[in-house]
Amino acid sequence: MRIESKQCQNCHSQFTIEPDDFSFYEKMGVPAPVICPECRFKRRALFRNETTLYSRKCGLCGKFVVSSYNPKSPYTIYCEKCWESDAWDPYSFGKDYDPSRPFFEQFGELFKKVPLKSTMISTSSKLGPNVNSEYTNYAGGNKDCYFIFNGGGNENLMYSRGVSMSRDTLDSYFGINLERCYEAVNVDQSSGIQFGQNVVSSLDSIFTLNVSGLNNCFGCVNLRHKSYHFMNEPLSKEEYERRVNDVRGSYSKMQESNKKFQEFSLKFPRRENNNLKTVGSIGDYLFESKNLNHCFETTRCEDSKYLFSVKFAKDSYDVLGFGYDSELLLETVAAGYSSRIIGAFWAENSQNIEYSASMRASQNCFGCEGLKNAKFCILNKKYGEDEYKKIRAQIVEELKRTNQYGLMFPPVIAPFAYNETVAQDNLPLTKEEAVAQGYRWEDDLQMTKGKETLKPEAIPDHIKDVLESITNEVLACISCSRNYRITPAELQFYRRMILPVPRKCFFCRHQDRLHRRGPMKIYDRTCANCKKPIKTSYGPDRPEIIFCEACYQKEVI
Ligand SMILES: [Zn+2]
Ligand SMILES: [Zn+2]
Ligand SMILES: [Zn+2]
Ligand SMILES: [Zn+2]
Repeated sequence: MRIESKQCQNCHSQFTIEPDDFSFYEKMGVPAPVICPECRFKRRALFRNETTLYSRKCGLCGKFVVSSYNPKSPYTIYCEKCWESDAWDPYSFGKDYDPSRPFFEQFGELFKKVPLKSTMISTSSKLGPNVNSEYTNYAGGNKDCYFIFNGGGNENLMYSRGVSMSRDTLDSYFGINLERCYEAVNVDQSSGIQFGQNVVSSLDSIFTLNVSGLNNCFGCVNLRHKSYHFMNEPLSKEEYERRVNDVRGSYSKMQESNKKFQEFSLKFPRRENNNLKTVGSIGDYLFESKNLNHCFETTRCEDSKYLFSVKFAKDSYDVLGFGYDSELLLETVAAGYSSRIIGAFWAENSQNIEYSASMRASQNCFGCEGLKNAKFCILNKKYGEDEYKKIRAQIVEELKRTNQYGLMFPPVIAPFAYNETVAQDNLPLTKEEAVAQGYRWEDDLQMTKGKETLKPEAIPDHIKDVLESITNEVLACISCSRNYRITPAELQFYRRMILPVPRKCFFCRHQDRLHRRGPMKIYDRTCANCKKPIKTSYGPDRPEIIFCEACYQKEVI
């Protein structure tokens, strides 16, 4: 059994390559990486900007579009319709590989020239196109949605990430089959959940954590199949309603209840992870999966390592997003329905693609961008099979010699700044730290500050006192002072759900939800009850009581 300890060439921390890793890398034909898993995630994540959107012009038809590419960036951006059309020819950008210059320098030049699609909408999404849902990214099959990221098949959904097959829901992170939910984090098959986390099959409950089968409960932790419980105590329906109605709709009372609930929840043990129906795996938010190692937010995957936000993939390493019937992915962002892909920023229905972007239905391409139904292409130029193999071998040899084969593109090629991407969401850095680690930082995000027409303290405390005219006002976030608005559909939702108007902007609310989800890290600890070793995303300095699976199951009622 060969285990190799290495020092990361980027951050100089120690990391190990395990026997299973060696067999995977051998299968992929790449050497073991010289960069640690965390630095590799950061590099890869520089290719995934989900939530930082800009308004800019389509480079072909001139129409204003929502785009994830900063207007200041050097790329040509086309709207979805122009990009998918035959009005431009990706092969016209084709170039010969020049062995006297670094390959990535040459790919970087191509990447700046070939038009990019304004936002990332999968072409093979089985959920169909988005309808009336312009402010969405990495999303498909959404209707009447607004600010939806990495989610599909939704209707009337707003301000959410990682939510699918849901409706009439706002401000949620990671969930499926939700209806009338608000501030739900990892909630499944539930309706009317407000401020709920790790909730399954529940109804009309507020402030709940690690519960299932509840209805009409408030401030409850670790309960199963209960109704009319208030802070884990049973009440008569009348008394329950009296207490809950006293709080609902009032911003100050909901804030106070939230604080009390957070303190109350610390008295109860928590499970070492949030995995369900998953075996032989290390990570968090893993569902119906097996043999995963250091994976997060992953559903129905197997025999893989370092996956984040992936579904239906197997035998893959270092994957960010998508998946779907794929295998042998290595260092990919948004690769799906594909096999043997190394270093890709969006690949679909493709095989044997290396160091390429926006590839569809293609095979055996290296260093290409924006091609469809392509074969044996290098730097967007077509070759015969033998010539292709010869040049590919030359480039692979160069990348192996410079310790880059099997890693993601170098950060200098990345289209996004660190703070525009999911890197900042999951491994946050300050500007100084990001720059010191070699990543770009964007100071000029499209936003306004100081344009507010209604100060936070002038917003009525209770939703019943909020006037329709609030939808014409410009508000200011109490946390970052960024301006934001309340849309008419949103106000209607708050009124119907008896919820106060939020005092923070979407971006701060999203950060709060990420904080509730927990970090994308795994710590070695011991169960607070039986002292058995556990692996958990709760760091050793956290105040929560963490139990192993077996001890936790004995605890819940
Ligand atoms: Zn490192
Ligand atoms: Zn256009
Ligand atoms: Zn804010
Ligand atoms: Zn235990």
